[in-house]
Amino acid sequence: MQEKGTISIHTENIFPIIKKFLYSDHEIFLRELTSNAVDATQKIKRLASLGEYKGELGDLTIDVSVDKKKKTITISDKGIGMTADEIKKYINQIAFSGATEFVEKYKDKGDEQQIIGHFGLGFYSAFMVAKQVEIQTLSYQEGAEPAAWLCDGNTEFEIKTSKKKERGTDIILHIADDSEEFLEEHRIQGILDKYSKFLPVPIRFGQKDRQVEDGEDKDGKKKWKTVKEDNIINNPEPLWAKSPSELKDEDYLEFYKELYPFSEEPLFWIHLNVDYPFNLTGILYFPKLKKDFEVQRNKIQLYSRQVFITDEVKDIVPDFLQLLHGVIDSPDIPLNVSRSYLQSDSNVKKINGYITKKVADKLGDLFKKDRPSYEQKWSDIGVFVKYGMISEEKFEEKAKDFTLVKNVEGKFFNIEEYKTEVATNQTNKDKSVVFLYTTDEEKQHSYLETAKKRSYDVLVLDGPVDSHFINHVEQKYEGVTLKRVDADVIDKLIDKDEKKESVLSDAEKEKVSAAFKKAIGDDKNNVTVEPMATDDMPVTITLPEFIRRMRDMQAQGGG
Ligand code: ADP
Ligand code: MG
Repeated sequence: MQEKGTISIHTENIFPIIKKFLYSDHEIFLRELTSNAVDATQKIKRLASLGEYKGELGDLTIDVSVDKKKKTITISDKGIGMTADEIKKYINQIAFSGATEFVEKYKDKGDEQQIIGHFGLGFYSAFMVAKQVEIQTLSYQEGAEPAAWLCDGNTEFEIKTSKKKERGTDIILHIADDSEEFLEEHRIQGILDKYSKFLPVPIRFGQKDRQVEDGEDKDGKKKWKTVKEDNIINNPEPLWAKSPSELKDEDYLEFYKELYPFSEEPLFWIHLNVDYPFNLTGILYFPKLKKDFEVQRNKIQLYSRQVFITDEVKDIVPDFLQLLHGVIDSPDIPLNVSRSYLQSDSNVKKINGYITKKVADKLGDLFKKDRPSYEQKWSDIGVFVKYGMISEEKFEEKAKDFTLVKNVEGKFFNIEEYKTEVATNQTNKDKSVVFLYTTDEEKQHSYLETAKKRSYDVLVLDGPVDSHFINHVEQKYEGVTLKRVDADVIDKLIDKDEKKESVLSDAEKEKVSAAFKKAIGDDKNNVTVEPMATDDMPVTITLPEFIRRMRDMQAQGGG
């Protein structure tokens, strides 16, 4: 037997599911409704500019208000509004996205990027917090009848004539008993700050107090008075949406303060701006490192057409750059999809690659144009660069030039330069060039002194990713070995095969060595009794490079 058919979906069943699980965070409803209000406003602006709407645009500010007594939240816009027929089409049919339809219709006229909506589900997020939702709306179309829609969260709704006189839409949420937290003003203010701070149309949330100067009193002291002013919660023209050519350094620094009010100034920044093969704008800031290398993740905010989406940018930004600060805005990053999907999405991969390249180019530029200033910043940016060099092949290709090492005298070299610098004096009999390094100048002081007597140069590699970096350099640079100054006696670290006469017999050496070994009590250490250049240490206790490296790698995680 064989049968074919269509699986039918009963809306009565699916509605509660949408309500509960559409978004895990209930506060999202406000993001969706303000986005819709912005869309409706952008549409009327567009129609006006195309000459299809000839009326006055008027003040287009969107209002959000809370009525604690009536237990309602209202979102009002002066956008295109809807006719009763449009409500039936756009609201009653779940997942029929009017935004997509609008974009389709007007896309040849350019600028479709301004519309936020996409999925045709956002409106229903209202039911995550409301027991009843009311729409009062008047379409921009000439002679349109104002319409009202009422629905209390089941599949039945009511449409009737409304008394609305002004063009636009009011969405009135009658808040459910278990969602009354959303009637608190500070809660709404917080959600608006989070999601709607950079929406492209001004949004007003009531009024707020401001202190202004009010002349002087008898003693010539300034007087102050409190005035009420509109509480506009957003900056409709955030810096990243502007063209880099019209911006000055001050603008970037000021915007940084807007994003992170109490932070120290950043070191430098990169303005991202592409429209092919994907759309992406944004600004990435290199922060100053905290003393204790306190890693601050989740400082990059992801936006889609100026709507805040998340500060979790894993997959979109390569791991080593997640320590940066700033914003990324891209309508081409799929939202509301699973992690694994995001990882395999080709746009996301391209975006990741683009950001990596941009950062590498910027660093390369800084290095070439003003090396002294680059070197000065190295203590802050070195960790990112080394981490990137180790973890991203694409980055490493470029980073080779501007990845620096510093010696005990405080001089900087890139690795090729350093190899050339020390090759003459520090080449082993097996022809490999030995980079000596210290991880702790104080503790390894006497070993450093010994190296100095041989005129050997020593690098300082005491950073948080240096043990991985050391391995990486050895793998990537043929003929280069790195040895910590205390890994063996100096003439074995760099073995030039110059024999020296010992003042002790082999039996005597054995005795001294045994005594020291016993005293240390760790059989991993080597004890060498050697005659060294006159005032060298006669007895040297060393920990072999490979054992020490294994310990370091374990301590720093991974390996
Ligand atoms: P999307 O925004 O993804 O299209 P929504 O569920 O958020 O989906 O909204 C569905 C549709 O309802 C919108 O595309 C739009 O046509 C209409 N709509 C919603 N809110 C408004 C509004 N404030 N003004 C005019 N139309 C609206
Ligand atoms: Mg929407």
